[in-house]
Amino acid sequence: MSMTTNPDTPTARLIHQEGEHLAHNYDPLPVVVSTAEDVWVTDVEGRRYLDLLSAYSALNFGHRHPELVKAAVDQIGRLTLTSRAFHNDRLGAFAAALADLCGKDLVLPMNTGAEAVETGIKTARAWAYRVKGVPADRARIIVAAGNFHGRTTTIVGFSDDPVTRDGFGPFTPGFVTVPYGDAGAIEAAIDENTAAVLIEPIQGEAGVIIPPQGYLRAVRELCSRNNVLLIADEIQSGLGRVGTTFACDREGVVPDLYLLGKALGGGILPVSAVVGDRDVLGVFRPGEHGSTFGGNPVAAAVGLRVVELLQTGEFQERATTLGHHLEGLLDPLLGHGLTEVRVAGLWAGLDVEPALGTGREVAERLLDRGILVKDTHAQTIRLAPPLTIQVSDLDWAVEQLKLVLQAT
Ligand SMILES: *Cc1c(COP(=O)(O)O)cnc(C)c1O
Repeated sequence: MSMTTNPDTPTARLIHQEGEHLAHNYDPLPVVVSTAEDVWVTDVEGRRYLDLLSAYSALNFGHRHPELVKAAVDQIGRLTLTSRAFHNDRLGAFAAALADLCGKDLVLPMNTGAEAVETGIKTARAWAYRVKGVPADRARIIVAAGNFHGRTTTIVGFSDDPVTRDGFGPFTPGFVTVPYGDAGAIEAAIDENTAAVLIEPIQGEAGVIIPPQGYLRAVRELCSRNNVLLIADEIQSGLGRVGTTFACDREGVVPDLYLLGKALGGGILPVSAVVGDRDVLGVFRPGEHGSTFGGNPVAAAVGLRVVELLQTGEFQERATTLGHHLEGLLDPLLGHGLTEVRVAGLWAGLDVEPALGTGREVAERLLDRGILVKDTHAQTIRLAPPLTIQVSDLDWAVEQLKLVLQAT
């Protein structure tokens, strides 16, 4: 990479400093970002880049959306943290708005996505024992192959990705893995101790894998018929990304629990939540679950503003319109550098022809052309621009991609 070969650049110095003192659990592209606005970020040397990753959809509303920043700054000037030992004057309005957005009764606020997933698992187990009548410690949760639900020891235990999993056992029992996109496999796996089916309605980290049409609806019916909870991990797919508020909306499916995170914090701070009806999420009793920072006033103020932005429908509409446009630009690249193109709203998984290099190499070449993307699983790159992006920027980005795929 030309920009990092000179050890005297600010970029090289800062990357070196990080390397000296940071655990090596990431391998970032060689760009050091210092400022950002909407869809553009600027590095320490003044170079601008179009952000087509959006922090894995945490930046659905763009960097530093003025109304979200205002909500955060106003709140920081009043009250930042109480813990849930006391009430705060922000949490109720956030919970009411988020429950309304989801069409559900109750919200359980947490911080990171992994915590929302863990909370969903605890909810399903407690529901299985206290409501369904599963014998103690026998509850099972069905998950899908290729899943990504976060990084805790319990969660990586039911991942089938060796990179995430290997070296971190022993793992939590009680999970059964079935192929993704195959409702029959879920049906076959359900037994009297099954508490829940936990799936991503579209698999993000796996490379924007869209299940066959009718899958979510079939899973919903199976769950209802067998008294099993459907838990939708919408942490990456939800909150406008695919052109609807939730990816489940694409099939008119309502899960028993929504797991939300990423964009819920407006790209400002970590905010996650589990949202469900009283007969399910009502299983918790005081003291059984919690989080020091979950539901803090700043999270609530920003989260409320996020929900209000989504209630306008404007972002969902943009994701739909721009997504169709993006698909039209990407489809001609099939067989011309790309072996597969998967698009859902403003979210795309692109499989790069192996002869042209790895996903990582394509990401590095795009970086040289002023575009930030991230590879996933060797040959795939994922595009997830902020939903605020302009058509002209999308056009320019795909033009750069075309050049990168031709140049190799
Ligand atoms: C990112 C992600 C998570 C984990 O969220 P963190 O905030 O990184 O803990 C869980 N599920 C899905 C689908 C995700 O994309």
